[in-house]
Amino acid sequence: MSQIPVEEALKKILEKIHFKGVEKVSLGQALGRVLAEDIVAGLNNPPLDNSAMDGYALIAEDIATATPDSPVKLEVVEEIAAGYSAKGILKPGQAMRIMTGAPIPEGANAVLMQEDTDKEGNFILAKDRADVEENIRKAGEDVQKGETVIKKGVTLSPAHIGMMAVVGRSQVAVGQRPTVSILSTGDEILELDQKPEGPQIYNSNGHMLAAQIRSAGGLPIYLGIAKDTEKDLMEKFEWALKADIVVSSGGVSVGDYDLVKASLQKMGQEMLFWKVAMKPGKPLAFGRIGDTPIFGLPGNPVSSFVSFEQFVRPSLKKVMGAADLRHQTVQAKLTRTIHKKPGRLHFLSAIVSSSNGEYTVTPAGEQGSGILKSAANANGLLIFPLEESEIKEGAQVAVQLLDT
Ligand code: AMP
Ligand code: MG
Repeated sequence: MSQIPVEEALKKILEKIHFKGVEKVSLGQALGRVLAEDIVAGLNNPPLDNSAMDGYALIAEDIATATPDSPVKLEVVEEIAAGYSAKGILKPGQAMRIMTGAPIPEGANAVLMQEDTDKEGNFILAKDRADVEENIRKAGEDVQKGETVIKKGVTLSPAHIGMMAVVGRSQVAVGQRPTVSILSTGDEILELDQKPEGPQIYNSNGHMLAAQIRSAGGLPIYLGIAKDTEKDLMEKFEWALKADIVVSSGGVSVGDYDLVKASLQKMGQEMLFWKVAMKPGKPLAFGRIGDTPIFGLPGNPVSSFVSFEQFVRPSLKKVMGAADLRHQTVQAKLTRTIHKKPGRLHFLSAIVSSSNGEYTVTPAGEQGSGILKSAANANGLLIFPLEESEIKEGAQVAVQLLDT
């Protein structure tokens, strides 16, 4: 099988990934979930015209000539606290003491802030003028009844949670989260509570994948480590298939003990492709057993990391009904010339920063499929296109922002 371009691989994958379904959750559980309905306001916010300041509601025309040297005297006839309405109607020559958030009384058309007044018994001296509507927040200026305030497909942030509370929603429909089995493979791979000897290494991929799944909104199921035998792989994949999606790492290359593909084949896997024209991450295998998608990610840690971000994260987002499946990509100015061989798209771990509205990007240290440290120090993936062999310092390049 030949290598297919990244875009084609993602297209083939997403064709086989389907929305899981809707569930209702309480607002307190909704952070990070994907909204499965439009949120339409059933009310105006604020409900009434109200004061933006602690001060005095009055008639702007009454104090048109007011200055500190020649203040205008007004009679204070009422006090309005937030949560209460004025009993009377404000007449010329009068003011009402008003607190932030309290409704503007009938008859008033401005609020003069307290700092621009002096108090004299039941009167105030207005020491400044005010425009009509000054310090008045209009009814519905935040939200109008009938307005869609958050759209279906959005991943909910803390401000979205606040917005739903503004319109009185205590329950919300969101996309169900996919369960995702994680199977690490390799005779050399150890659990964290074991003591490595000689060639043995810890299962970094398994834990990193669990975190990636969680950060994408999925529910990781850690299945430990399979030995490099068809028997153990088949046994553990049998368990893995109980989840909505299966992700394995390692064992998909061309080595003598790379038995993941052969094992899945024996279990009846329909193989959709193997090998993507990218670096790191070339030997990605994608297939299905029944309706369950299976991602055979390469074992090298950076390959596993990058492949997940390109293919598994968008898949989990699609399962949950997200409108945006991929990381945000920005154009950034490259700080030094970079080279590669044409023929594969390269993802470089990179540090992106922005100042004065412009992004700049620098590759983050040594690049290599085993150099996880560079990925750990990065906040972006620089995209070095398939056919390019050089990008010059100062050129604009595409960078995926990894902050989720
Ligand atoms: P493989 O694709 O199985 O040939 O693995 C490629 C490289 O990735 C080898 O050096 C493995 O030791 C390493 N590797 C595979 N699985 C893991 C894992 N779960 N954690 C860390 N490194 C791994
Ligand atoms: Mg291996």
